[in-house]
Amino acid sequence: MAYSMVPVGYVRSCFKEKFAIPRQPALASAARGCLELIAPYDRPEAVQGLEAVSHVWLLFVFHQALEAQPRLKVRPPRLGGNRSIGVFASRATHRPNGMGQSVVRLDRVEPGKLWLSGIDLLDGTPVLDIKPYVPYADQVPGAFNGLADTAPPLIQVQWTETALQKAQQHAGRLGEPLVALIEQCLAQDPRPAYQAPPPERQYGVKLWDVEVRWHYPDAHGIRVLEVVPQA
Ligand code: SAM
Repeated sequence: MAYSMVPVGYVRSCFKEKFAIPRQPALASAARGCLELIAPYDRPEAVQGLEAVSHVWLLFVFHQALEAQPRLKVRPPRLGGNRSIGVFASRATHRPNGMGQSVVRLDRVEPGKLWLSGIDLLDGTPVLDIKPYVPYADQVPGAFNGLADTAPPLIQVQWTETALQKAQQHAGRLGEPLVALIEQCLAQDPRPAYQAPPPERQYGVKLWDVEVRWHYPDAHGIRVLEVVPQA
């Protein structure tokens, strides 16, 4: 039996590419976006009552990771990218039906729009359903996950003076906490686990409408080199 589903809306996110998106929600509180609902869910009735709720579950499609062939095993980056486990033991993006779930902060509700923060979603992500977080049922005392029990360790993020100034200017223009967003995302250390890059190697990512470039001056941290308008 096949089921067909239609999105209720699409996320407009600070993340314009997959690289450097935190691996779970709530790891970057400055990661913000707006879920734009489409008809008929853009009507005020559909969100009535949501103003009483602080967080929502989003059920969504990993639209940029869909595959024709099912995978039974995956190599989660969290485990260093060289240990494979069953797909159902992981939250990997490559999975049956390409479905993701994230609990995110609901900052503001208006008809047809949910303003969100702490997101781990790419721009354009199709959302299939929205459910309120229910603390008494969704918080599980004593729960454990032996593969990923705590948030990933953070690395230090430093700035060049000019990059910090530029980030502050763009933050003012965008009306977004861009400095915090860059620091929170880069502190997750987005490089693939197996890479020990030389200091001359630069990495880049697109956030909102800017491009952020950084390098690894040593083994301990990141230095942000540039924050420039996207080409
Ligand atoms: N919290 C969700 C879950 O557990 O189902 C997502 C976890 S998944 C490991 C998080 C990663 O998904 C992010 O780091 C980002 O690279 C990727 N991602 C986010 N939105 C995506 C999309 N629409 N298509 C493909 N990959 C996406």
